[in-house]
Amino acid sequence: KVNVFWHRRDLRYIDNVGLYYALDSEEPVLPVFIFDKNILNELDDPADARVTFIHDQIAQLDEAYRRSGGGLRVFYDTPKAAFEQLMEEYDLAGVYTNRDYEPYARQRDQEIKELLASQEIPFYSFKDQVVFEQGEILTDQEEPYKVFTPYKNKWLAKLAGIQLDHYNSEQKLAALYAEKQPAIPSLKDIGFSRTDIELPNAEVRDELLANYASDRDYPAKEGTSRLGVHLRFGTISIRELVLRAQSISDTFLNELIWREFYMMILAHYPHVVDRAFKPKYDQIPWINDEEQFEKWCQGKTGYPIVDAGMRELNATGYMHNRIRMVVASFLTKHLLIDWRWGERYFAAKLLDFELSSNNGGWQWAAGTGTDAQPYFRVFNPYSQQEKFDKELRYIRKWVPELETSRYPDPIVDHKAARQRAIDTYKKALG
Ligand code: FAD
Repeated sequence: KVNVFWHRRDLRYIDNVGLYYALDSEEPVLPVFIFDKNILNELDDPADARVTFIHDQIAQLDEAYRRSGGGLRVFYDTPKAAFEQLMEEYDLAGVYTNRDYEPYARQRDQEIKELLASQEIPFYSFKDQVVFEQGEILTDQEEPYKVFTPYKNKWLAKLAGIQLDHYNSEQKLAALYAEKQPAIPSLKDIGFSRTDIELPNAEVRDELLANYASDRDYPAKEGTSRLGVHLRFGTISIRELVLRAQSISDTFLNELIWREFYMMILAHYPHVVDRAFKPKYDQIPWINDEEQFEKWCQGKTGYPIVDAGMRELNATGYMHNRIRMVVASFLTKHLLIDWRWGERYFAAKLLDFELSSNNGGWQWAAGTGTDAQPYFRVFNPYSQQEKFDKELRYIRKWVPELETSRYPDPIVDHKAARQRAIDTYKKALG
């Protein structure tokens, strides 16, 4: 008999809760990863940087497992087909995983759980991706929170009462199933090619965290961790990161709590996936001008800070948080384009794309979300520029033609667009 450990968005063997419990069980453990056709078929770009990222991580995991006498079994298929094959090939004692909270993932896991149950194979899932799951931080009335600050206070109070453990799965690899596995499929085998985007590594210096509070808002500085993609795919442990944040920077810890807040919101209020968190806001009559949307995507709006951000995103798969807020506000308020259009564009481009945070960020900017900006607060792109990139270091990097005649005129007038946004929201919300 063997136990399967199914890697999904936890692509590491160190401090991995589900893997730890699998290795601690009676049976040897076969680690598995599935390049899920249901997901990959939805991606338009054959050089999607996230697929390269995952592929690199999978290769490293496989190497580590081989060094310990095992190997990673990798499928390119639907999860259902992959498990049908595993059930045929092996006498499975159980399947171990870490919980994944997105709507698709929950449905997928339910399907696999039922498939396994048909042969009485148990499916075990563990908390690994977050410090606190959606049901663990509730109001005194046992309701989910709808606003960040009280959620955060509860989260911090709860953290103070527990010990964050390290699960030393890395010390238990001797319990891997000792069988040579087929070579993992290449990127080409799964229909992709290598990205030329630079992929950030998972290291972050204490010094960066120590200066995080003062530097994080300035896009020209390297003031943030760039760990988004690593948190997305679990190539670092959230417990380790929280412990470090606790000892160095409350501001950084605060951002990690935002991550869990938006995950909690998505889990409790799944309607946010395609509707406003606050239902009234679904009545806003978006203008949705396709030509203006295209200019926004390409970074040709004539607003330097917006254009710099969009070009950074297109070139690197990354955009600084301050600038994400500015471009999202500009799209939804200045152009009155549906936040879902912007959200979709980010989802296709961001290396650190996370459904919950992306949705939360967009709904925040559009004023439709949880802690949303009141609708009459419209970011002024010029004062954002003045405040956060005064010397134009960030902007000139991405918009080198700024001071030439080649740089386009603004596609809308700031004052008029601001007033139009306020009037439109006001009328729609009654
Ligand atoms: P750091 O500043 O170093 O923060 C560390 C980590 O904390 C991040 O990696 C992330 O996991 C978490 N974090 C930081 N800020 C937030 C936040 N506001 N909400 C939730 N988690 C946060 N973040 C994503 O991870 N994926 C997304 O798809 C995403 N889309 C966004 C869309 C919009 C419109 C906006 C305004 C924000 C979005 N964010 C998203 C949040 C934030 O911009 C990014 O997490 C951050 O810029 C990533 O860079 P970093 O890793 O250097 O972050």
